[in-house]
Amino acid sequence: MTNDTPPRTPATPVTARGARPADSPYWDPALETQSREDWAAMKLELLKESLAHAYANAPYYRRSFDEAGVHPDDVTSLTDLARFPTIDKSVLRERQTAAPLLGDLAAVPEEEVVYVSASSGSTGVPTVSPFTAEDFEAWMDYEARQFWSSGLRPSDRYAHSLNFSLFIGGPCVLGAQKIGALSIHAGTVPSERLLSILETFQATAMWTTPSYAWYLGETALAKGIDPKTDLAIKKIFVAGEPGGSIPETRARIEALWGADVYDYYGLSDIFGACAGMCEEKDGLHWAEDHIHVEVIDPETGEPVAPGGRGEMVLTTLKKRARPLVRFRTGDIVSFNEDTCGCGRTSMRLMGVHGRLDDMLVIRGVNIFPSDVEAIVRQDHDFTGEYRLIVTRENHLDTLTVEAEKIHGFNGTDDELAARLKSGIKTKTGVGAAVTILPAETLPRETHKAKRVDDRRGQVWTA
Ligand SMILES: [Zn+2]
Repeated sequence: MTNDTPPRTPATPVTARGARPADSPYWDPALETQSREDWAAMKLELLKESLAHAYANAPYYRRSFDEAGVHPDDVTSLTDLARFPTIDKSVLRERQTAAPLLGDLAAVPEEEVVYVSASSGSTGVPTVSPFTAEDFEAWMDYEARQFWSSGLRPSDRYAHSLNFSLFIGGPCVLGAQKIGALSIHAGTVPSERLLSILETFQATAMWTTPSYAWYLGETALAKGIDPKTDLAIKKIFVAGEPGGSIPETRARIEALWGADVYDYYGLSDIFGACAGMCEEKDGLHWAEDHIHVEVIDPETGEPVAPGGRGEMVLTTLKKRARPLVRFRTGDIVSFNEDTCGCGRTSMRLMGVHGRLDDMLVIRGVNIFPSDVEAIVRQDHDFTGEYRLIVTRENHLDTLTVEAEKIHGFNGTDDELAARLKSGIKTKTGVGAAVTILPAETLPRETHKAKRVDDRRGQVWTA
C-alpha cells in the first residue's frame, strides 16, 4: 500500500507565512465552505486510504482487523467504519509497553518520525504521540486555519501560554506564526512573569486554560492591574476544561478581561487543537478533513441520533506516523452539522459535556461538574469557585456542593444555599446538599482545576 499511495500535496511549511489577505474570512475558502456531500465524499476517500495504510503498516491493526473479520477493502461508506474494533487509551499504553518506543499502532519506521508529544494521564505512564514531517506540517496548517477562523490576523501579538514540555498544545504556537501573527512563546511561567510579558509586549491574544484565565485576571486585579484597561488582550483561546463551552463561564472571563473567549478542543494523542470556535462562538468547528467523528452510546456502542449526546470516537484520516482507528475518547459530546453563521460547513462540537471519568452517578442520575459550574457562574453572588463532594452513607450516595460567596454578600447563607440547591435540582434532577463558603476558601488551581472529590471508595476501607 505504501508504494502505490498517491503523492500528497505538502502543506505550506510552518516557516512560510500564509499569503492570505487579512480581510479574507477563510484560510481555505473552497474546503471550509464545501457542501456536506463534498465533506462526506472527501472523508470516505481519506478513510479508505488511511485504513489501508494502517492495515499494511501497523502490526496491531493488521491483527485486530483480521481478528474482527474486517478489511479496509470492504469499506464503501463512512458507516462501514462501525464494524471495525475500537481502541482506547489503555490500548495505546499497553501496545507502547509491548513494542517500545512508539508501540505497534505506529505505521512508519521511527526514522520517519520528527516530533513526539507525550501525555502522562492519570496512571503516570506517558503515552507517546508520533508525527512524521508531513503530519506535523498538516497539523500546523490546521492550527493556522483554526486561528484564522477565530479572527487572529498578522497584526496580532499572540502570547502562547501553554506548556512546551512534550505537551501537544505547545507547538500550536507555530500555527499562529504561520498566519503571520507576532508570536510570543511565553510558556507556563509564574503569573507575575506572564502578566509582565503581556504588559511589555502589549499582547493582543493569548491561549491558556479557562481556570487559569480566570485566576490570572483575578491575580492582575489584586496587583492593581485592570486586565480590561491596562492590558491589550482582545482574544483569549482556552482549552483543556469544559468551562470554555459553558456560556456563563465564558461570559465571566470575557467581562474580567474585556476580551472575547474562544473555546478550543485538543487531544494529546491527535492534535493540540482538533476543533475551535470561530468568531460566531457557536460551537467548535471540527478538523473534519483530518479526523472522522462517531458519537456512540458508551454502554451499548450503538451510534446516537444526530445532535444527541454520547461518547466521542475518533478516527484519524491523514496521520501517517500513528493512525488512530475508532479511538474512544471518554468525552461526552454533541455535534451540530448545520452551516454556521460564519458560512463554514464543517461539523461543530457543541461542547464537551464532561468526561466519562468525571461523570458522577448519584442515585442513578448522571451529573457532570460542568452542570454545577453553569449555575454558580451565572449567579453573581458566587465567586464562581466550587467543588463537588460525593460520599456514601447507609449505601446511599450523597452529593454535597461547596460554593464560595463573594466578599460583601449581604444576604444569608441559607438563602444562597437554597437558591443553588434548587438550581441544581432543576438542571440535573439531583438533590444536593449545599455548603456556602467564604470567598477565597477553595484552592485556586492554576491549570486543570480538580472539581470532584469522590469519597465513596473510602467507606469500605475505613
Ligand atoms: Zn463558524
